[in-house]
Amino acid sequence: MQHKHALILLISIATGVVIGIFCGWFWGKTMLKFAWLGELFMNALKMMIIPLIISAVISGIASMGDAKKLGRLGTITIFYYLSTTAIAVFIGLVVVNLIQPGVGLKLGVGELPESIAAKEDTGISDIVLSLVSPNLVASASEMQLLPLIIFSIIFAVALIRLGDRGVSAIKFFESVNDAMMTIVTWIMYFAPIGIFALIAGRFGKAGGGEAFLIEVKAVGWHMVTVLSGLAIHFAVLFAILFFISGRGWSYLLGMLRALLTAFATASSSATLPLTMECAHENKVDERAVRFTIPLGSTINMDGTALYEAAAVMFIAQGYGIEMGFTQQSIIFITATLAAIGAAGIPEAGLVTMVIVLQAVGLPLEGISLLLAVDWLLDRFRTSINVWGDSVGAAVVHRLLQKA
Ligand code: ASP
Repeated sequence: MQHKHALILLISIATGVVIGIFCGWFWGKTMLKFAWLGELFMNALKMMIIPLIISAVISGIASMGDAKKLGRLGTITIFYYLSTTAIAVFIGLVVVNLIQPGVGLKLGVGELPESIAAKEDTGISDIVLSLVSPNLVASASEMQLLPLIIFSIIFAVALIRLGDRGVSAIKFFESVNDAMMTIVTWIMYFAPIGIFALIAGRFGKAGGGEAFLIEVKAVGWHMVTVLSGLAIHFAVLFAILFFISGRGWSYLLGMLRALLTAFATASSSATLPLTMECAHENKVDERAVRFTIPLGSTINMDGTALYEAAAVMFIAQGYGIEMGFTQQSIIFITATLAAIGAAGIPEAGLVTMVIVLQAVGLPLEGISLLLAVDWLLDRFRTSINVWGDSVGAAVVHRLLQKA
């Protein structure tokens, strides 16, 4: 996409966000009529995910041509993801200890939503089990991306091993990937309207701005805590971007379309096609675009990790349960793992939070306290998740160059 077009699109998307909030706030009910436009946009993005992920990961890895380089790329990527997620959880714990949003709230116990009650027995072993799918088609239809990525990695390594006999298959996946990316640029032109409709429609579902404000009051400090934590982590990632990859504001500007889409869709998986497209336009190494970003969209969720740690502490404070150093260390570890296990879909963080709550023996019903505002906080943390992947791609790009 030409620079001028990209800029016009960015301005239109940003306008879509602002008008979406405005209209949703004041005419929430009416805006529900436009929600289908947002759904159309979301569906178009989701339609791309499976073919894009498979073709990108296979062609990205196969282009490396040897297992050593792949090992290096994998190690850098995983190290970056784990360390930034751990930093995010740490920031979450620090802010929640400083602000103490739940202290003195004397929260009552609400009802546990169905989707979460069903996950009551989720454990860490489930995360490991979810890596290998017994049925790839079923995984694809349920949008379980991690097993598909793992399969694509193994498949690409096998193609490299085949030598000349693997070349035609690699070329095929390269062409598929290029075609997918071309379709993504077409879908992007619909983004301003789609994003407007998604945001306005969601405010409409919350009953408009005034109704939402009433909900916010009860958990206002929780929101302040999470939003300040996310803002600090955003800055930390920016510093990492600046010092390690040597990029700065122009990279942020270039990724903004993806970040705003993340805000509108609350799904890092749905945003994935745009994250890849923006990174590609920002001249990030194709290997980083095709491997680091898809993997990141499923396992690198800094915003979610930070949120889970802060929210679990908020619940503990609300119930007046003291969390000492050991308990907080458990939260630190389990929130990191729970975020890795969370799917890149709306409010998935709430579901994997069960793991953290159970690890420290807190009542799962505590989650119900967060529901009213979670849809909004979800959008902020999803943007940070996508920002984490974007910075990761730039960092990996730089480290690959140095290698
Ligand atoms: N909605 C988030 C994402 O897609 C996950 C979550 O925190 O709920 O990245």
